Amino acid sequence: MDDGVGSAAAITATGKKRPRLLRHTKSKPKEEEEEEKVPKEVDIEDLGFCRDETLEIRAFLLEWYDRNQRDLPWRRISSGDDEDGSERRAYAVWVSEVMLQQTRVQIVIDYFNRWMHKWPTICHLARASIEEVNEMWAGLGYYRRARYLLEGAKKIVEEGGVFPKTVSALLKVPGIGDYTAGAIASITFKEVVPVVDGNVVRVVARLKAISANPKESVTIKNFWKLAGQLVDPSRPGDFNQSLMELGATICTLLNPNCSVCPVSNHCRALSLARQNSSAQVTDYPTKVVKSKKRHEFSAVSVVEILEGQDMIEEFQPDGRFLLVKRPGEGLLAGLWEFPSVLLGVEADLATRRYAIDQFLKKSFNLDLKRSCTVVLREDIGEHIHVFSHIRLKMYVELLVLRLKGQRRVLHGEPDSKTMAWKSIDSKALSSMGLTSGVRKVYSMIQKFKQNKSKPIPGKTRKKKPPSS
Ligand code: SF4
Repeated sequence: MDDGVGSAAAITATGKKRPRLLRHTKSKPKEEEEEEKVPKEVDIEDLGFCRDETLEIRAFLLEWYDRNQRDLPWRRISSGDDEDGSERRAYAVWVSEVMLQQTRVQIVIDYFNRWMHKWPTICHLARASIEEVNEMWAGLGYYRRARYLLEGAKKIVEEGGVFPKTVSALLKVPGIGDYTAGAIASITFKEVVPVVDGNVVRVVARLKAISANPKESVTIKNFWKLAGQLVDPSRPGDFNQSLMELGATICTLLNPNCSVCPVSNHCRALSLARQNSSAQVTDYPTKVVKSKKRHEFSAVSVVEILEGQDMIEEFQPDGRFLLVKRPGEGLLAGLWEFPSVLLGVEADLATRRYAIDQFLKKSFNLDLKRSCTVVLREDIGEHIHVFSHIRLKMYVELLVLRLKGQRRVLHGEPDSKTMAWKSIDSKALSSMGLTSGVRKVYSMIQKFKQNKSKPIPGKTRKKKPPSS
């Protein structure tokens, strides 16, 4: 067990030394000084909270949480004493926790309210289609999580519709991992289990001045162990939320407000910072250098197909846009996007257009020279979209076509085994849930159209017949 607050030793992973942070006020014999310069290294695996420390941290945090917790919609859904209440609460906690893994609370609130309005119970969600779920999720990113919510709901409903109540049972639901299982089990069903997210890692790392790499599996395991020691047995859900709330609102990444922190008396990082002006609480947890993102390049063609024979100057409102469904596995699986081709490397205009031409020909049997008239083809610009591990540069073009002869619209699915597509008008496109990358591309197109004052080349306004 740890000896409590004020120890001079910073905690490191085995074998990794951290400079000593004690400042001496009295002079000491040289050999004593030499001895003290060696940091008292504490293996993270030997760390723990002593009993008194644990009791105080629990009490202080819960008291603080009772007074300061934020009013959030998922917290208003109470479990009550009945089975239905628990089910409702579990579902709300599940949805909100998955959304909270994506983005900030303020953004989640709106998504959560819309989601719960559309699918108030797990049974409603289980009847939804993946298209609807993706549309509702549009803009949150990591669409795989949305798909898992749907798959998980279907599984729970298929198996009788009763929400699993323990971590071990919850872990059998697709997409529910340690974090979400701990949150649902402790908040809804009062199982005494910890929850460890980025906020908890930060608070615990500072409370114990842990400088071991927080991404390493052995360190993560020990954060779970430490958080598990702290969980209050009578109010596990509230305690877990209080720890996360502290990290989200007070013990923040860059500007922790230690002067109002309810557990500052137990914070080793703060104690070290007070002893040495060069030390800061934000030294914990250790910042891990992110691996470099892979650079990718794609040519995106926003293909608008004009229908009818009218030749007017402005863009027609009846143009239909081609959308292609991405494969069911991998990045943005099953989501709709404008036709695009990965280029491998940066490519010039001719190469990009050639790649798009080939793609349209192969996928839609659309030969730009033979089966249609190109009304407009213009480079709109570039958009860089950043995923967790990819930096994608998209070269965006607008390609306005009029199909020749009898082929006024594209019918069927020419390559439906490997690719699904559809053509929709601008109204439907605007109201569709699109990924943020696709939305950005579409807004570039809209902006281009708005700014374009010149008539489309080759298009002339139909002359009105002279009035008699
Ligand atoms: S005292 Fe400061 S660093 Fe320590 S837990 Fe509180 S807010 Fe975080």
